[in-house]
Amino acid sequence: MNARPQSTLLPSWGSVLAVVAHPDDESFGLGAIIDSFIATGARVSVLCLTHGEASSLHGVEGELRDLREGELRDAAQVLGITNVRLASYPDGALATIALEDLVGDVVAAAIACGAVGLIAFDISGVTGHPDHIRATEAAVAAGATSGLGVLGWTLPVEVAGRLAEEFGAPFVGHDNGEIHIAVEVSRTLQMRAVACHPSQAVPGSVLWRRLELLGDLEHLRWMSSLRA
Ligand SMILES: [Zn+2]
Repeated sequence: MNARPQSTLLPSWGSVLAVVAHPDDESFGLGAIIDSFIATGARVSVLCLTHGEASSLHGVEGELRDLREGELRDAAQVLGITNVRLASYPDGALATIALEDLVGDVVAAAIACGAVGLIAFDISGVTGHPDHIRATEAAVAAGATSGLGVLGWTLPVEVAGRLAEEFGAPFVGHDNGEIHIAVEVSRTLQMRAVACHPSQAVPGSVLWRRLELLGDLEHLRWMSSLRA
């Protein structure tokens, strides 16, 4: 038998920095969690490391680099995000960037917003995208350097398994014993934020099925030795 998740509550962090690889990760992945943090009274800022220009999805006409920056800023406003920093590292090639450079950006962004904690994707990258893994490596290293707790967004292993089966997508999940927080969320603002990303929120995308399978729960793991 698996152990139950340890907590149903988010840590009470006054200011949170979300570290993501692509515009849309803050909405498709972390949207409901960001909304929940804000509901606890936290300010949430976002550091997005690429413009998402290499996406294979192209739901609307135009240059993805510019389109996706606009989508990110619109979504951030919907979610109530305080500040967005968008770096210009190459989409699809974050793993080729020196970790110390990425860590420097995360630390600077964390200082700028007075973050007391970081949120990111799980170190597995969740969807298997190497950029997601690299962004989280940077968040974890920055957390260690700055003495900040780092929470990683993950999927229950059953949900990851279903998505892998139905879409052939390399999702990575964790079982209950490895999930530290399972929090009840509202998806209302997340869905509105997702709608701000028409270039990516295309019909038939695995995103919709994932949200359906997750229902009103999101799952997090401590990526840092430091826990709130
Ligand atoms: Zn992404």
